[in-house]
Amino acid sequence: MFKGFLMFDFFKNTFAPRRNYSDCSGCSLCLLVCPVWRQHRDISLTPHGHAKALQNVNSAADVVASVENCTLCMACEPVCPENIDIIGMILDLRRQLAAPTWLHELQTRVNERATRPVAPAPSSSTMLLPDQALYAYPDILARIVALLRSVNISDDDGSDISLALESGAAIPEQRLQRFLTQLRQLKRIIVADGLLLRHLKQWLPNANIIGLGVALSGHAVVRRNLRATDLYVIEPRAYHADYQRLVKYYDRLRVAHGCAFNLDLQRIAIPATARNLPQRLGLAASNDDGQTHWMLHGRSITRIVVENLEERAALEKASGFPVVHLAELADDGVT
Ligand code: SF4
Ligand code: SF4
Repeated sequence: MFKGFLMFDFFKNTFAPRRNYSDCSGCSLCLLVCPVWRQHRDISLTPHGHAKALQNVNSAADVVASVENCTLCMACEPVCPENIDIIGMILDLRRQLAAPTWLHELQTRVNERATRPVAPAPSSSTMLLPDQALYAYPDILARIVALLRSVNISDDDGSDISLALESGAAIPEQRLQRFLTQLRQLKRIIVADGLLLRHLKQWLPNANIIGLGVALSGHAVVRRNLRATDLYVIEPRAYHADYQRLVKYYDRLRVAHGCAFNLDLQRIAIPATARNLPQRLGLAASNDDGQTHWMLHGRSITRIVVENLEERAALEKASGFPVVHLAELADDGVT
């Protein structure tokens, strides 16, 4: 199933600097993996579409629908043979276009966090940065902390920075530096939010940063409860932020345990919660049921295992299968 990734990688120099929209050849490969294309069949809402619009000297305002509809699943970058920095450019356009009424409120929240007192230095050399979905399930968060052992949860989890990245709000430089300073002291950083993970890897290139899914699925006690009839739902943002390494990691997991994965070539970017910006901000209804049915179509499974708790809630509602988080696999007698 991961052969598709490897095939695309073969065609490009992955160490070359990322290019920009003027280099888009119009090959349309990004459409194959884009959940927005699958849902709307509107090329103007895809990387191909907004690259062509910008090549034709349209203004950023002409691609606002495309920029807002992007779910930031990041699936298009690995398949782009021109190595275009699609996500970087979408986030840049969001910053340029960030003028709607909700932005003021978001910016206020980011600025408010920037003025809070400095958090104390972490007491452990490993820090977990939870996402908002994890805080909503304190029992699972407690299990994760017990499983990962000696992990510290900081008062400063970077959730405001993640929100700013997603929405296009500005991140005050002083705030960003304060956040990164505490992280520079650590031996290991475990990140639940895939968008934050991607940026931390750029801001702290020498740090040991991994996603929560990889941290948990690496445990023998979690692995021993994986089954061949499981659908293992990889969190796509964290995956695509480090796919060159993780394609091998997950393929080894597949070979060892036989479970199916959500990120195959046809359904590469179809998480249950493939939400665009208005949906993520709660300003529009999400399409979780539609995404879930597409992800499950034609599969013979008996259970779904998720890395991300937001997806657990959506899959429980729409799938009819038992859904467990990786941390729950460590329990004896798991479903
Ligand atoms: S990040 Fe996902 S939704 Fe956005 S353009 Fe790329 S594939 Fe489509
Ligand atoms: S895959 Fe890359 S080069 Fe091809 S159309 Fe999409 S953005 Fe352009």
